[in-house]
Amino acid sequence: MSELQQLPARQGRAVALKAGQSIRIVNTHGHQVVDTWAFNAHDLGEFLSMEHMRAAIDRISPKPGDKLVTNKRRPILSLEADSSPGVHDTFIAACDIYRYQGLGCKEYHENCADNLRAGMAGLGLTPSEVPSPLNLWMNIPIKTDGSIGWEEPVSKPGDYVVLKAEMDCIVAMSACPQDIVKINAGAPTDAHYEVLA
Ligand SMILES: [Zn+2]
Repeated sequence: MSELQQLPARQGRAVALKAGQSIRIVNTHGHQVVDTWAFNAHDLGEFLSMEHMRAAIDRISPKPGDKLVTNKRRPILSLEADSSPGVHDTFIAACDIYRYQGLGCKEYHENCADNLRAGMAGLGLTPSEVPSPLNLWMNIPIKTDGSIGWEEPVSKPGDYVVLKAEMDCIVAMSACPQDIVKINAGAPTDAHYEVLA
């Protein structure tokens, strides 16, 4: 039925889900951030939107049972299960070439924005834009003084989330290649995923 697929280190993949199908995303080694997006399969201009989602769930990060909504405030995914402590980020933009230039890179550095484009291209699709991702396992603590931290994930090897499609959608994932800021514990790895009927 389903088969575990590799999300290679530093790369992106996308899969098409029919409404009612689910995807299980596995943090195989436990310290890998997976940037995750979802687009309406019939209108790529409608996509999972973090700012709309936070208003819908009254939280900064989703918990099992929450419906994740689009920029048109319609559910596109629901979070069905989360075996990890539930520390995910919804505030930080996908890393891109400009981020790495700002960090001092003189040459090309793989990045989540390009990984989104590459993953979608694998399905013959072009994303309408690079929406703010659901950064699974990214540990960005928000402190009482309003400042944020850039910490290592608190997940364990094999932790997973299950996202159910509430509409026909394209789910894209990037194994974040960030190796300068320590959000991947300094060592980006692969992850895995499988589509559940
Ligand atoms: Zn990234």
